[in-house]
Amino acid sequence: PYIGPSADEVLAKRKAFLGPSLFHYYNKPLNIVEGKMQYLYDDSGKRYLDAFAGIVTVSCGHCHPEILNAITDQSKLLQHATTIYLNHTIADFAEALASKMPANLKVVYFVNSGSEANDLAMMMARLYTGNLGMISLRNAYHGGSSSTLGLTALNTWKYPIPEGHVHHVMNPDPYHGAFGADATGYANDVQDHINYGTSGNVAGFIAETIQGVGGAVELAPGYLKLVYDIIHKAGGVCIADEVQTGFGRTGSHYWGFETQGVIPDIVTMAKGIGNGLPLGAVITTPEIASVMARKIQFNTFGGNPVCSSGGLAVLRVLDKEKRQAHCHEVGSHMLERLRSLMHRHEIIGNVRGRGLMVGVELVTDRKAKTPAKAETGVVFEKLRELGILVGKGGLNGNVFRIKPPMCFTKDDADFLVDALDYSLSKL
Ligand code: PMP
Repeated sequence: PYIGPSADEVLAKRKAFLGPSLFHYYNKPLNIVEGKMQYLYDDSGKRYLDAFAGIVTVSCGHCHPEILNAITDQSKLLQHATTIYLNHTIADFAEALASKMPANLKVVYFVNSGSEANDLAMMMARLYTGNLGMISLRNAYHGGSSSTLGLTALNTWKYPIPEGHVHHVMNPDPYHGAFGADATGYANDVQDHINYGTSGNVAGFIAETIQGVGGAVELAPGYLKLVYDIIHKAGGVCIADEVQTGFGRTGSHYWGFETQGVIPDIVTMAKGIGNGLPLGAVITTPEIASVMARKIQFNTFGGNPVCSSGGLAVLRVLDKEKRQAHCHEVGSHMLERLRSLMHRHEIIGNVRGRGLMVGVELVTDRKAKTPAKAETGVVFEKLRELGILVGKGGLNGNVFRIKPPMCFTKDDADFLVDALDYSLSKL
């Protein structure tokens, strides 16, 4: 039995000693005390099926034994030294990560978070091209640090601080976008924006292939190919944010950008790379990396032995357990079942995604696509009651984000879909 502090005590302490911007899910916040693979346990011992993975972070599963062993063994041996000394863990991890990349993407930088990764990528783009302007998509989330907040384009997260030369172009959203799934219309908007909103040259373009925080929005097919050409002609480099879409989660491919048939100049990653460890990375070509050698680029904890050993174990486990194929199989089954729910529930406006990166958007009117914000909240609470944790996303909070640990099974998917079906029928 759990003997730690109660939810009320934790909440009171959070209110007293942590920032007022913190928010929590659920009317009665969950006090999570333990995690095991795809399950989380609260302070009463109740088990929940975790379909949000600590915000798409726990890739292999909570406290996966092989990763736990790797971290524990390394912690006993050496926790920290920094790159001013040699240690094999960071080098081994960098080699393994680079082997997962196409083309000449083989220079790895380790950082501690997704925001840091995108911050570094943006700096590289600017130094390499000599330009300042960055192009990012509306509805994007690329971080909450003062520089990456400029790239982020959801008003709910943005403080009014200097943006620093960021241009937000039309989102190639097949469901809500003005051009539907026609990538050409949105790509033309990028060219227009460069022609009429910049000097004609830009430093770079950044996008996720499936927007996570924005509500599992998959970019219109073919969009990245068209836009990467436009950006390169404008002297810029292309950055793929794989913080949520990487490591096989999309099922069909190991990296999100591969689903659009492009090769970025810089790739950023975090979250799933560490299965919960604070870890991020930027990978680029030797040519782009060379500009960073003009000064010292250093990160005290980046690629420290414990995170590197854990990250290496993550790569190993994902391969050994064939998680990409598993995401494809379970994800396709879940998507098919979710789509069939649309016949029974008028409120489901759109089911989208790939693999285990899925979004279900609720609308009060399918034609007008009016966000069913209140109804989403009710179903969200109901799912929790039934023992299932999902995420919420999109600017209006009317999209369920289903992005479980990759060990999520077909039975888990069926349970989730049945629970959603039941909860919607109770509305
Ligand atoms: N990029 C994407 C796509 C993300 O989803 C996030 C986090 N939600 C970030 C960057 C920022 O990562 P972090 O919170 O680790 O700084």
